[in-house]
Amino acid sequence: RRTRVAVVFGGRSTEHGVSCVSARSVLTHLDSTRFEVVPVGIAPNGAWVLGTDDPKALEIRDRSLPEVPENGTAVVLPGDPTRRDVVLLEPGRAGDVFSGIDVVFPVLHGAFGEDGTIQGLLEMAGLPYVGPGVLASAASMDKEFTKKLLAAEGMPSVPYEVLRRDQATLTEQQRERLGLPVFVKPSRAGSSIGISKVTDWADLDAAIELARRTDPKVLVEKGCVVREIEVGVLEFPDGRVEASLPAEIRMLESAAADWYDFDSKYLDADQACEVDIPAKLDDELSARIRAMSVAAFHALDCQGLARVDFFVTADGTPIINEINTMPGFTPISMYPKVWAVTGVDYPTLLTTLIETAIARGTGLR
Ligand code: ADP
Ligand code: MG
Ligand code: MG
Repeated sequence: RRTRVAVVFGGRSTEHGVSCVSARSVLTHLDSTRFEVVPVGIAPNGAWVLGTDDPKALEIRDRSLPEVPENGTAVVLPGDPTRRDVVLLEPGRAGDVFSGIDVVFPVLHGAFGEDGTIQGLLEMAGLPYVGPGVLASAASMDKEFTKKLLAAEGMPSVPYEVLRRDQATLTEQQRERLGLPVFVKPSRAGSSIGISKVTDWADLDAAIELARRTDPKVLVEKGCVVREIEVGVLEFPDGRVEASLPAEIRMLESAAADWYDFDSKYLDADQACEVDIPAKLDDELSARIRAMSVAAFHALDCQGLARVDFFVTADGTPIINEINTMPGFTPISMYPKVWAVTGVDYPTLLTTLIETAIARGTGLR
């Protein structure tokens, strides 16, 4: 029979809608001769339901992102790791509808999805899943720990300060060390949600407050970007790890923001930025960035996939900004596009991700 894949999307994070749009592309591009899909939606309140696989229901419409509705169904994972089932409970009928799930594809971004939590749940249930395990997911989600683990392998980040719950704002000394502009961001988030660029210290506290709506732990970073480069990293079923060709995002003069904010990513991508796939980099820099991407993948103990994002400073030095363990899979997202130019088309990419997940299994492998 075909491999049965539970595609899980939506979720409790601020990236719920982006996840739905990513799932739409995954559902469209999965090789249906090899894979049978069980769509599992997670509503914004955290309820697991039988999701739609209708691409139309998972589109951005009139600048509003799709949402998983609570539709009266309930999907649960059994705690028994020998069962590998996803159980659908319908009102008035408890059914064991989807037995024999082979693998889960958590197309979830942000908290409770990309951060090791669902990965832990799937480990408990004995269900293999696409993407990195618990540690790598949690560490890559948290920008503070990403930087610390990279630093331990000799890969520096831009200067930053961490504001924990007990620190309201930066001290004078910290402001002097970083200088303006700074970027204020939730430590554990994505899609630029909760991030502000601050060019006047008078605006710092409002930016911290905004970031804290997403995460009580806030990072303040020195603004440094000259060029933004992204690389896809992919693990093959035999354990080989490869980096894609790098791509570059260039903000256009016509953009409303001068950095890659939420609207530039998803709503106004056409007017806001241009992407070079592959990036126009000299061979030496390109090779260096690709090697750093694989090194970063291992520094965070990743498996399966990751997208490693770089800044290249004015003097040509590549610095890793962040690592995304479940990067966007939307039609305009970089991860599938960089693999396409590297010679791995979208369906083959998905097949590879799923086969690698199955080859790895769960537990310590
Ligand atoms: P997310 O995980 O939400 O994508 P990022 O750290 O990648 O968060 O920040 C989003 C965007 O904000 C980046 O793509 C870049 O355009 C801008 N940005 C973030 N940090 C900096 C920085 N230190 N200097 C300059 N630009 C930055
Ligand atoms: Mg990110
Ligand atoms: Mg980013």
